[in-house]
Amino acid sequence: MIKGLSNVNWKNDFDDTTLERGKDIYYRENIMFYRVNNNEISGTVIGKDRISEYNVIIAFTDSSRTKVESYECKCCGVNSDKLCEHEAAVLFTYEKANKQINESYPVTPYFIEEIPDEIDVGRYFDIIDQTIKKYGDFIGEIKPFFADMMGIVKYIIEPMSEKHPMEAFEISRYLYVEVDDAQMCETHGRFELFSERLDALWDKLEQMVQGEDREYIADERPYIDNF
Ligand SMILES: [Zn+2]
Repeated sequence: MIKGLSNVNWKNDFDDTTLERGKDIYYRENIMFYRVNNNEISGTVIGKDRISEYNVIIAFTDSSRTKVESYECKCCGVNSDKLCEHEAAVLFTYEKANKQINESYPVTPYFIEEIPDEIDVGRYFDIIDQTIKKYGDFIGEIKPFFADMMGIVKYIIEPMSEKHPMEAFEISRYLYVEVDDAQMCETHGRFELFSERLDALWDKLEQMVQGEDREYIADERPYIDNF
């Protein structure tokens, strides 16, 4: 863990090369998810090999989150006294998201990846859980929340549906149930838009598969709608 230098602007804590590398990671959207909690932000950065994951924690002096107290990432060993590009990437993400929250734009940098040959459904459940958890126990930020949920449908589930219809069905069903279950107030039609999009996807999936798979989707759908 590295204690923050006295700079109010975090960028001054980093050297130019590290800052550029961090910005590059941020632009390539190699941050799987990040979370903001009081005076702390944390994020998981995907390494260049697309396999390694680095957990970054940035602590601020208080909940206004203007001045960094400490930086933490284990990429260069616990005792390294250098700040790294992963920390910079998380801060760039935070900076952008913060601006977007104020302007009510979508927030999450989606983890866009090539569609693997085999889908680890549980991993996508985790991504959904983490993204929803980011908003706390009660979803107050309806607009960015639904932008995030639609983003999961658009950037993760729909692209995998051609090759993996049944996995896409399982993951989207999970997403629907979690969103339906989340505590929030008036959604101003956003929940309806979200479920219409999933309905259209399920129509398509049902047509794509045959036999037992088709029966399974057909049997499960009324159950999801009444969940
Ligand atoms: Zn690092």
